[in-house]
Amino acid sequence: MYCFATLVIPFKAQSLMIKLFKTIEPLQAYLNQERVAGKTIGFVATMGALHNGHMHLVKKGKEENDILICSVFVNPTQFTNHGDLENYPRNLEEDIMILEKEECDAVFAPSVEVMYPHGMVLMDMDLDGLDKVMEGKYRPGHFQGMITIVYKLLEIVKPHRAYFGEKDFQQLAIIKFMVHEKNIPTEIVGCRIIREKDGLALSSRNIHLTKEERAKAPVIYSTLKAAVEKINLLSPLQLQQWIKEQIEKTGFFKVEYVSFINSETLKEVSDWNGTDNRACIAVQAAQTRLIDNIPLPRSN
Ligand code: AMP
Repeated sequence: MYCFATLVIPFKAQSLMIKLFKTIEPLQAYLNQERVAGKTIGFVATMGALHNGHMHLVKKGKEENDILICSVFVNPTQFTNHGDLENYPRNLEEDIMILEKEECDAVFAPSVEVMYPHGMVLMDMDLDGLDKVMEGKYRPGHFQGMITIVYKLLEIVKPHRAYFGEKDFQQLAIIKFMVHEKNIPTEIVGCRIIREKDGLALSSRNIHLTKEERAKAPVIYSTLKAAVEKINLLSPLQLQQWIKEQIEKTGFFKVEYVSFINSETLKEVSDWNGTDNRACIAVQAAQTRLIDNIPLPRSN
């Protein structure tokens, strides 16, 4: 085994076989070598503070490819709130240990200067309105930052397949759109949401929930599940209202939006007749914002 690490691997991780890259050129030299050897490359982009949701993507990527590379980069341009960026949990050393356990082959953990050598220049891409609804309304500019970093990472890694979670459903739809528009030859693989036993979707931000908020947070998914059972009884508007009431009556959360959308166009549906629809929700606790979603069946 060899290691192409360009910077010193943290002391605890020195005996690990996973390769750590902090700059682009050595990473690409390694990947080119693997590509020439006929290996397929899988890629998972993360902001670190890894949990089992991320690891589901890593496992799937490892199963379906010869080489799996994971990036850990807290992307400043996708944060719309400075406090959120400052408080975002960071622990690269622990992340590397977790990735090593899953037999991830390499970690790309660049600095902001490596990813944005000319300052925070954003990709100017028309996202066909996909970035204007739901998260886009509440976090203006978020998706331009997200798509900039995903485009850069896909250009650097040039993976055969890249894995993204359905947890960030709008993000996944926008990435699929961008990859299609830019003719990027990477297959984008959507992966199911991984949840705690009580239903709360795993998120790096969950650690910021207070004890009381954490105890009540499963109401988000349980309400979405109950809503699925009601689509033959209530209109989209009535169901939106019902979901909002169930969640807000806990006293801990304010619902920012509940949207019933087509999975590809992200356009709101006005009835339950279509196929491939989703319910997406964003909920604000005192300091923490949570998102979740669930597929909707066609009504009968
Ligand atoms: P993040 O580190 O939050 O940028 O997430 C990195 C990737 O992990 C994204 O593709 C997310 O959608 C995915 N992800 C985060 N949480 C989960 C989860 N609970 N289940 C499945 N995928 C997830």
